[in-house]
Amino acid sequence: MTQEDDAQQQLQEMVVLCPHLQGMTDEEQKESLKKNSNILNMHLKGVGLEHPEESKKNSTLFRGRVPSACPFADRLNASGPKWKPSDFRCGICKHYLHEARNTEPCKHNFCDVCLKKVGTTKGSSCPTCQAVVEDFSVDTFKQYTTDSYIKMQFELCVEDMGPKPEDPMNEFLFLTEQSVFFDLNVAIGNPTYLFNSDRSLFYANRALDSCDQLLNESKLIKFINLKSVVKGKIGDIYAIRGQHEEAKTQYKESICSLEEVMNKELDQDLTEVKNTIRVTLVKLGDLYLHREKEPLEALNWYSKSTNYNCEPIHALPVRIKLGEAKAQSGDVSGAKSDFEEAESIIKQLDASDYVDRCREELSRCMLLIN
Ligand SMILES: [Zn+2]
Ligand SMILES: [Zn+2]
Repeated sequence: MTQEDDAQQQLQEMVVLCPHLQGMTDEEQKESLKKNSNILNMHLKGVGLEHPEESKKNSTLFRGRVPSACPFADRLNASGPKWKPSDFRCGICKHYLHEARNTEPCKHNFCDVCLKKVGTTKGSSCPTCQAVVEDFSVDTFKQYTTDSYIKMQFELCVEDMGPKPEDPMNEFLFLTEQSVFFDLNVAIGNPTYLFNSDRSLFYANRALDSCDQLLNESKLIKFINLKSVVKGKIGDIYAIRGQHEEAKTQYKESICSLEEVMNKELDQDLTEVKNTIRVTLVKLGDLYLHREKEPLEALNWYSKSTNYNCEPIHALPVRIKLGEAKAQSGDVSGAKSDFEEAESIIKQLDASDYVDRCREELSRCMLLIN
């Protein structure tokens, strides 16, 4: 079986694992379901049911009929649907469906927000097949299978990570940390994610909740750093949505919590923490320079970030940005000396695409003072 066949098989089994089972009254049936699958357990946990210890030993997937408590039982039991990964993607943003809608009668799937953005209304043409859209319907079933599919992807990537830690607390931390990375990847992983920022925000916020769970259990610096990285990504999404105040709040909170770490834990390796602070300070600077058009404020944040420079390769783009902010605020001689400094850093670095891009950026910025 190829990995995709395998994934499809697992998915078919997973659609059996449905939140409506919560409504099941037959306790025995519920117990036997819980014992039959790890994935099921994960799912049940997701919908707030208990996760019995003994079930961890048994990883056999549940193979049975969907109990009638699930409103999709007839459809699921009848056909044994064959799914392709593309079935879970929106025809507009190509991302996983979010609040899935069906176009009638052609039955193509889109996110609610995407249909609104492209202005598809009754009487206009379907973005996928151009047929006239007579109506829309809410596709709870497709949304459910999409969410199941995403969960299954998570299961598969955790399996790829190799053996999980054996003791329950470390296993919990391990799985929760992986789910942060996973959600963050879903939030930012698709090149068109900016189009459907609601979806991105949903996943990024879920990653943030998982970070809080991690920090409830352990104050490890790497988890504090992870939470700051997630908040930085949420800030990016807000910045792109034009919600600048929300973006600033996320960035500033991210920086504050890491600066607290810097002030306390001086005997540990804080390279990652310094990197996150530097990157986030630069993001704040960019927000002020490019979106708010306030070069003096930008200068303030860029300057702070130089306290956290570790390598010339990190110092270079910041030096160019400092020059750009000074040029825009009218400080020509200050800008000139930053650009000269940037040129001398370039000379120290080995040639690479990255350095080429920085050189291009430098040439663009130098035009501001010539
Ligand atoms: Zn979409
Ligand atoms: Zn269509």
